[in-house]
Amino acid sequence: QAEYIRKPDWLKTKINTNESYRKLKHLMRDKKLNTVCEEARCPNLHECWSERKTATFMILGDTCTRGCRFCAVKTGLPNELDWGEPQRVADSVKVMGLKHVVVTAVARDDLKDGGAAVFAETVRQIRKQNPAATIEILPSDMKGDYESLHTLMDSGPDIFNHNIETVRRLTKKVRAIAMYDRSLQLLERVKEIAPNTPTKSSIMVGLGETKEEIIEAMDDLRAHNVDIMTIGQYLQPTKKHLKVERYYHPDEFEELKKIALEKGFKHCEAGPLVRSSYHADEQVSNASAQ
Ligand code: SF4
Ligand code: SF4
Repeated sequence: QAEYIRKPDWLKTKINTNESYRKLKHLMRDKKLNTVCEEARCPNLHECWSERKTATFMILGDTCTRGCRFCAVKTGLPNELDWGEPQRVADSVKVMGLKHVVVTAVARDDLKDGGAAVFAETVRQIRKQNPAATIEILPSDMKGDYESLHTLMDSGPDIFNHNIETVRRLTKKVRAIAMYDRSLQLLERVKEIAPNTPTKSSIMVGLGETKEEIIEAMDDLRAHNVDIMTIGQYLQPTKKHLKVERYYHPDEFEELKKIALEKGFKHCEAGPLVRSSYHADEQVSNASAQ
């Protein structure tokens, strides 16, 4: 019998299900779209959708070819590519009145381009219909295929985000197929392609890493010119997923943030409920102002 640590009070939030939330949920079903906000039952949903006007769309289907041990997205044979999806995402961004849009995707290792063409088209359609919105992309490592990366970058995202998710030692245990160094190289390559596009990466803590290992991850990201870092608490989505080894106190997150800023990140969000896309609107302005 595995032992579970009790969730501390600062992680107990209730999901706000008011009228505007129900309407937007309906819109997503209507347009056959998936959001990470809903899939991951993100505790920040109300704040992001209603107040900050941010949302994270998950495109290329709802089934991933990988099975990372922290992630709640289902694994299996993916859906057919849907060329109508870019337009529907763009329409929804408009209806929702979003100011900042994060576009992520399941890993499509079944496709030669990893889904980069549809991904890029999604960015273009969003831009066309919502010229004032900033667009952040959060792709998989596309198995390190730089041609696919170029396809993505040609669409001109405002911010490139790719998560290393955890420290070097735990990568094999936590992520499937992805590799720590390959992710770092991908981030570095983006800076070579588009030196003015801020890059960003995120780790979850609570998976058994040490503080020294977190600091090493910060150094590695900085050595690959990453501008923004986010650090959040890992929460176990179901009992089949990796167990939480430790809950970090909000003060510890504050300390990590301080260290990250000292290391030279232009922006760092760190906190128990911080997700890769949390307060992303502020990050764009901070990173491009310098
Ligand atoms: Fe969605 Fe990210 Fe906001 Fe959570 S933090 S609600 S996943 S945009
Ligand atoms: Fe989840 Fe992404 Fe891993 Fe797929 S590649 S299982 S979507 S974290």
